[in-house]
Amino acid sequence: MRILRRAQRGCQDNIAQRLPLYATHHLLDMNTSWLKPSAVLLLAIFAVSCLDSEPSSSAKTAVLAETPPLEKPKRDPIADYMAQFPDDGIESKAVGKVGDGRLEYGKLMPFAGPNFKYFDTSSYLMGRAFLHSKVKRAVLEGYKGCEQKLSERHFRLMECAGEHGGNLFPHRTHQTGMSVDFMVPLQKEGKPFTKLDDYGKAHYFLSFDSHGRWSQDASVEIDFETMAKHLLVLDESAKRQGLRIKKVLLKTELKDELFATPSGKELQRRGIYFARYFEPLINNLHDDHYHVDFE
Ligand SMILES: [Zn+2]
Repeated sequence: MRILRRAQRGCQDNIAQRLPLYATHHLLDMNTSWLKPSAVLLLAIFAVSCLDSEPSSSAKTAVLAETPPLEKPKRDPIADYMAQFPDDGIESKAVGKVGDGRLEYGKLMPFAGPNFKYFDTSSYLMGRAFLHSKVKRAVLEGYKGCEQKLSERHFRLMECAGEHGGNLFPHRTHQTGMSVDFMVPLQKEGKPFTKLDDYGKAHYFLSFDSHGRWSQDASVEIDFETMAKHLLVLDESAKRQGLRIKKVLLKTELKDELFATPSGKELQRRGIYFARYFEPLINNLHDDHYHVDFE
């Protein structure tokens, strides 16, 4: 029983608890901050046009000739946010457990790299993409390894941890910077399928049947071989950081499909542990992503 209970404590996200959060997120998605620079610009143009006395037509022509076209101020909120959290080189410290702990000197993951991208802008800007320094390096090295081994693939990183760890509502874990959610790679007719990659946080609500087929279009399915390959690379990059994969959480019905692939067999041979039991609700949430705990 104790083992079962322990297994239940994984990434035990509560879908009922998630809804208000995601509703808030969607409102945040609709924020109008992008309007601000253009609104300021329009006001400025309006003010100048009001103050100016009526120029002659020749003066107008001269002004038009000399004035460069007005450009929207270029602002990149992601770059601005990343600039606030440069890597200070101090090793992070995970305190407590993934379900009850905190993170010291957490490191922000880059929003994107050559073959990966964080899945949701507002989640990123809300400070949910921090990791322990060693886990950050392991994940980045893993993606680097995939550049060679899975060159045709582009990956999506999902929620990580807060800068100081602790509760990452609605996740029950993700508290120490040692937990990472990875979006399942998809395929259609044997080719990478990426049209669902940009669903943002709504991606957590996609559902797949027990064979990994998307509920809305059975021709879109989880690419288990790619997923297994990514986990193998991650296992190696974690070891180089003195870590190991402690546990992977994936909907239990999907494990057969994963372990049937050549790389899935290698995962089993290496003894990488997959949680064996979840509450049904939690189980169903781990079909669009796989959760990895490092230690
Ligand atoms: Zn998770």
